[in-house]
Amino acid sequence: MAIETPVDGLVSPYDLASDDGYEWLKGNLHSHTTNSDGKPSPQERLDGYVEHGYNFLCLSDHYKITRTDTVSWPDDFVLIQGAEFHPTNPFGGQVHHFVALNIHEDMDSQQLPPQLVIDAVREQGGTIWLAHPHWSSINILRDTLPLRGLSGIEVFNTTCRRMGRGEGSIHWDDWMSLEGKIYPALANDDSHALDSARHDTYQGWTVVRVKERTAAAVVEALATGASYGSTGPEIIDIQLRLSDQSTDKSRIVEATVVSSEAQRIFAVCDTYGTEYHEHGSSFETASFSIRANARWSRFEVIAPDGTKAWSNPFDLTGF
Ligand SMILES: [Zn+2]
Ligand SMILES: [Zn+2]
Repeated sequence: MAIETPVDGLVSPYDLASDDGYEWLKGNLHSHTTNSDGKPSPQERLDGYVEHGYNFLCLSDHYKITRTDTVSWPDDFVLIQGAEFHPTNPFGGQVHHFVALNIHEDMDSQQLPPQLVIDAVREQGGTIWLAHPHWSSINILRDTLPLRGLSGIEVFNTTCRRMGRGEGSIHWDDWMSLEGKIYPALANDDSHALDSARHDTYQGWTVVRVKERTAAAVVEALATGASYGSTGPEIIDIQLRLSDQSTDKSRIVEATVVSSEAQRIFAVCDTYGTEYHEHGSSFETASFSIRANARWSRFEVIAPDGTKAWSNPFDLTGF
């Protein structure tokens, strides 16, 4: 039986062909401006990402939507309207940090329990994501598992890395194994500083596979997993197939990952998992076997300079 997903099945971005009009777009879904605790104005924040070659951005200020009609941007750029909401946490952990994308109505999130905030975002047609769980000391079992309707998790956050808690991959795996469900992830800057400070801008991004340069198309690609997150490497292709070595008792899936220059690639699975490396040499194509009847696998690509990219999880139950 196929593994459960937050939408009706996740989509591999590598099944969406250029011949059908799909292209890769790079963006950041988490940034702050003078409308909350960010240093640049909304227009300055937006101009910075445009100038650095990004294709999409969300100005996700705390508590309140920064309206897209208060700024201007180039025609081929996509600005997603959103906010970072902070509902109370009735389960014992710290206050929640959720990034909401593609929303139009404000809410008093600090006065609401988290489930009502999630429901309100979804009723507006938006998506809502668990932000920087490591930095927020989120315990998935206690704080996240009681909730229904989150779209996925922020696996990397540049601002939180500055405090040593930038990665959420253990929370991601924990969530998927506790719930028996696979979720897509985002990699974001959560930029607060001015560009000149070089603290928390242009270091973590998400790449989506879309046909149209619209906010709706970008957010749908994120929610369906047609994306990957990165702090450097590109993940160009991932293909999976059932190995000829498989038997009825032991199913083996062969994975081929094509990336920019890598020093190591991990297949992170719900059980066991494996790695590919060439003993110190770098490479761009890795083929390896995923054993032990894993139900899902996601891939992490490590570049020679230590930067990293995270694929979304693949459902292996259909092989
Ligand atoms: Zn936050
Ligand atoms: Zn934030």
